[in-house]
Amino acid sequence: MADRYLHFTGTAPGRFLTRRLGLPHPAPLRRWSPRTPTLDGPLLHLTAGDSTVTEGLAALLAATGLDVTERTERATRDDHAERPAGIVLDATAVVTPGGLAGVHAALHPVVRSLAPGGRVVVLGVRPSADDHHQAAAQQALEGFVRSLGKEIGGGATVQLLRIAPESVAGAESTLRFLLSPRSAYLSGQVIELTAAAPAPVADWTAPLAGRTALVTGAARGIGASVASVLARDGARVICLDVPRTGDELARTADALGATALPLDITADDAARRIAAAAPDGLDVLVHNAGITRDRRLANMPADRWASVLDVNLDSVLRTTDALLAAGTVNRGGRIVATASIAGIAGNNGQTNYAASKAGVIGLVRALAPRAAADHGVTVNAVAPGFIETKMTAAVPLLVREAGRRMNSLGQGGLPIDVAETTAWFAQPASTAVNGQVVRVCGQSLLGA
Ligand code: NAD
Repeated sequence: MADRYLHFTGTAPGRFLTRRLGLPHPAPLRRWSPRTPTLDGPLLHLTAGDSTVTEGLAALLAATGLDVTERTERATRDDHAERPAGIVLDATAVVTPGGLAGVHAALHPVVRSLAPGGRVVVLGVRPSADDHHQAAAQQALEGFVRSLGKEIGGGATVQLLRIAPESVAGAESTLRFLLSPRSAYLSGQVIELTAAAPAPVADWTAPLAGRTALVTGAARGIGASVASVLARDGARVICLDVPRTGDELARTADALGATALPLDITADDAARRIAAAAPDGLDVLVHNAGITRDRRLANMPADRWASVLDVNLDSVLRTTDALLAAGTVNRGGRIVATASIAGIAGNNGQTNYAASKAGVIGLVRALAPRAAADHGVTVNAVAPGFIETKMTAAVPLLVREAGRRMNSLGQGGLPIDVAETTAWFAQPASTAVNGQVVRVCGQSLLGA
C-alpha cells in the first residue's frame, strides 16, 4: 500500500535517477502535526491592480497568526528575506478582462519565490449573471488558478476562493484551512462562500469542543481518520460501522475515547438507532460509508448495482431526511457527504459507483440552501481522488500507479487529507461554506 516510489525519489540515488530519466519526482507533502501546525514562513498579501482592498481582510489574515506582509520586495529583492509560505491575492475587484493584467502584475514577480509546499489563494467573487464583463473576468480566474496549480510544483497548491466581500468574516475558517498544512492535498479547487455569518470561535485549536459528531464507515480507512481528526478538534465522536467489523470498530472507537455504534447504515431503522445513540442530537453528521462492486455494465448483475446505490446514495438520502425531520441534527449542524472524483469524471467498470457518487453531489447541491434555511444546517461534499487505503490497495498495480501520479502533486493522498477537509466543513465557523463539492485529489487530471 505504501508509495515506495515517493520514498525512493526522496533519497539521493532516487533524485539522481529520476532527474536523469526525466521521471516525475513528487515533493513530500508537509501535513499538519502538533510540531508543524502552521505554514513555515510569512504570508504575502497582494491586491490585483488598483482595485479596492477587501475591507477587513488584512485584520482577518493577521488573526491567522502568520507574519503578514504586503511588501513584495521582501520576497523578490532581498536575498536574505524569508521566502513566503503563502500568497493571498485579492482579485475581488477585477470586473473587466483588462483588470486581469493586475493578476499577472501581482503574481508574476513573486511566484518563483514561494517556499516549497507553499499556498496560493486567489480571492474572487461569484461571476455575475447580469454583467458579462465581470463574469468573464471572474471566470478567467478559474482557468488561471487551475493552470497555476498544474505548473507551480514543489508541493505547492493553488485555490480560488470566491468570497462575499460584504461579510469577509465568513471566510476566516476557510482561509485558515487553505493557508495551513491541513490542506496539503487540495489544489486547483474553486470554493464559493455564502454571506452567512460564522459562529464565534473560542479556541481555534479545538473548534469542535462540545460538539457531537457521528461518522459512518468509521472502523477503518478514511472514516477512521475522519473520526480521529474530529476527536482531535474537540468533538465527542460516535463511530458507526457494520456489525461484522466488531473488533476493528471497537479498537478505533476506544483509541479515540469515542462510542462504537455497530449498525448497517442501510437498515430500515438506521436513523432511529442513530438518534437513540445521540440523545442530545448531532452537530456533525459525516456520511463516509461506501462500497465498490466494480464490473462493466454489460457484466453487472442487478445485485451489484443495487448494493452500491443503496449504501452510497439511498442510505445517505434516507438517513439525512429522517434525521433532519426528527430534529436530530442540531441547529448550526454540519452534514458532510462523501462523493468521489469517479462521480465527476466517471470510471471504467464503475457505472454503479460513479452514479451513486454523482448522486451524492446532486443531493448536496440541492439540499444545501434548503437545509440552511429550514434547519440552520450546512451540507457539503468531499470528493476524494486517489487516497491510499485498503480500497485503493486492491486496485491492479498499473492502474494504481496511474492513479497516484496523474495529479499535480504526483502522489496519492492519505486518509487524513480527506479528514482535514471534512473537519473544516464541520467547524461552527464554516457557516458560509455550504453546497460545496471540494475535491481532495491533488488536482487529479481526471474530470479536472
Ligand atoms: P474502506 O472500504 O476502507 O472503508 C469503508 C468503510 O465503510 C468500511 O469500514 C465498511 O465496513 C464501511 N461500510 C460499508 N458498508 C457499510 C454499511 N452498509 N453500513 C455501515 N458501514 C459500512 O473505504 P475508504 O477508502 O476508507 O472509503 C471511504 C469513503 O471514501 C467511501 O465512501 C468511498 O467511496 C470514498 N472514496 C474513497 C476513495 C479512495 O481512494 N480510497 C476515493 C474516492 C472516494
